[in-house]
Amino acid sequence: MSKIQDEIKNITSALPQGVRLVAVSKYHPASCIEEAYEAGQRIFGESHVQELREKYDLLPKDIEWHFIGHLQTNKVKYIAPYVSMIHAVDSMKLLREIDKQAERVGRTIPCLLQLHVAREETKFGFTPDECRAVTEAGEWRTLSHIRLCGLMCMASNTDDKEQVRSEFRQAYDLFRELKAGPFASNPDFKERSWGMSHDYSIAREEGSTLIRVGSKIFGERI
Ligand SMILES: *Cc1c(COP(=O)(O)O)cnc(C)c1O
Repeated sequence: MSKIQDEIKNITSALPQGVRLVAVSKYHPASCIEEAYEAGQRIFGESHVQELREKYDLLPKDIEWHFIGHLQTNKVKYIAPYVSMIHAVDSMKLLREIDKQAERVGRTIPCLLQLHVAREETKFGFTPDECRAVTEAGEWRTLSHIRLCGLMCMASNTDDKEQVRSEFRQAYDLFRELKAGPFASNPDFKERSWGMSHDYSIAREEGSTLIRVGSKIFGERI
């Protein structure tokens, strides 16, 4: 077994029930994805539209492609025909565009709202209050070609494990609040996308259902 296949097995065998691995393959060639695919991995995460398009063309069609990066509205049309989930929706403008492009190709696209909980200023996403406001406002209910399936976040890039834990916990608390509020009668709203190579074991303890792990599987990106 290759190192990639070893890592996939190690990670997935230790995941609690209901938690899925998104293998983040950005900047790694299609041959690395094929190795992971042979170990049974089917969900892959990419964060650049052009790169995803090239890999989609080359690789098996039963792969679920998750777009995990910042997505510009003018690029939604390129991935709308096949993307399985868009993780980092950070504005209503983007959500409307996804709805429009999904309708054009006759699909409904599962989306997650990106929540900003990290200390860093540079990260995209809704603050908890903005997230409450847009979900309570309810325009999303009128967008029939998107499905809001939950929340996504990135923790601060720090060695302070308690800081990271408290950010994931904040995200999980908000998830539960929304689940009891605007999404009370919406079974689709069930995903929590948090945890990367260096913090997924904390995320796993703090309610994650989708961990997005890249370098631990594929090595450092070049
Ligand atoms: C690159 C990336 C990851 C994976 O990061 P690793 O540290 O390599 O596991 C996860 N989520 C997002 C949004 C990313 O851009």
